[in-house]
Amino acid sequence: MSYPELLIDREKLIHNVRTILKMGQDSNVQIHFVTKCLSGWRPFLEVLYEAGVEYFADSRVENLREMSDLGLSRMMLRSPMISNANDVVRYSDLSLNSDLSAIEALSDAALALDREHGVILMVEMGDLREGFMPDEMFDVASRVLNLRGVWLAGIGANFNCYGGVIPEERQLEDLSKMAEDIRRRFNVPLPIVSGGNTGSLYMLSENRLPLGITHLRVGEGYLLGIETSFRKRLHDLFTDVFTIMAEIVELRRKSSVPTGLIGPNSFNEIPVFEDRGQIWRAILAIGEQDVRCETLEPKDSAIAYLGASSDYMMLDVTHAVRDFKVGDVLEFSPDYAALLRASTSPYVEKQLV
Ligand SMILES: *Cc1c(COP(=O)(O)O)cnc(C)c1O
Repeated sequence: MSYPELLIDREKLIHNVRTILKMGQDSNVQIHFVTKCLSGWRPFLEVLYEAGVEYFADSRVENLREMSDLGLSRMMLRSPMISNANDVVRYSDLSLNSDLSAIEALSDAALALDREHGVILMVEMGDLREGFMPDEMFDVASRVLNLRGVWLAGIGANFNCYGGVIPEERQLEDLSKMAEDIRRRFNVPLPIVSGGNTGSLYMLSENRLPLGITHLRVGEGYLLGIETSFRKRLHDLFTDVFTIMAEIVELRRKSSVPTGLIGPNSFNEIPVFEDRGQIWRAILAIGEQDVRCETLEPKDSAIAYLGASSDYMMLDVTHAVRDFKVGDVLEFSPDYAALLRASTSPYVEKQLV
């Protein structure tokens, strides 16, 4: 065993996956399970597959390559780079798109590689990340329908990201209507109407996802057990599938306020300190290279975060439930950002238990 470690509870993960799968099935909504947070780690992908996942989605071709033999469909989430069109077509059968020249590159690549590739056109609906403007959609759809290498699989929108915009029935009804208009105008099936990510799950769970939304892309929901629009727990999903473990390398009673002239810290920020007198400070061998420290939640809520540098995290353990010593291992719950960083850090060992 080596620390820091990212522990994944297999049974809880399977429970969450099956619950989300069932939510989709009950409402006739197809769900692509988003795996980018676990950076294509094969044992994790295999657990999803065992739990019944057939539709996978990821933002990186490197990760999609890892799952090329699993399931029925692999969706590329990040708008494809023209320079990367060949790999996108090689490792995914569907991609989300917001640029016509990139779609043309995918079409050329698909013809050259003799592969089928479905294009989903993203529509800008307020969050201001990727997407064509709504008034471009007919024109873009018609151009895509004229390409020989790709087929027009659907349209979609993204929310809860750059702008933090919460998807509501209003936007999804517009999206659904737009799909209907494209179907009628061009006489195409357009099977996928992708109504967002985990932030749209609240509507699915309350049975008010607008009719005509046929698809969602879900990551955080099954990983952390919450929906991301109001940060509420979903059904009986587990919120503790993941645990971060880190080891204490120094434990001393020291002042809570540094002495000397205060300048920038290791991240070029001027730190501010609260005077708590003399405290028991634990230094852990985990840092910003391994996780996002500030958002790690200690399992013992009496432990307080003090700060972090690339390789260390400092904690106030004065009021901790347990008495610690150097060499002890502390447990934390990661949020999405911490999980993402931990899973992509080569210094953090992943383990399924
Ligand atoms: C990451 C991503 C998702 C998944 O988002 P969650 O909030 O984890 O469900 C869905 N769609 C796109 C385009 C993404 O990049």
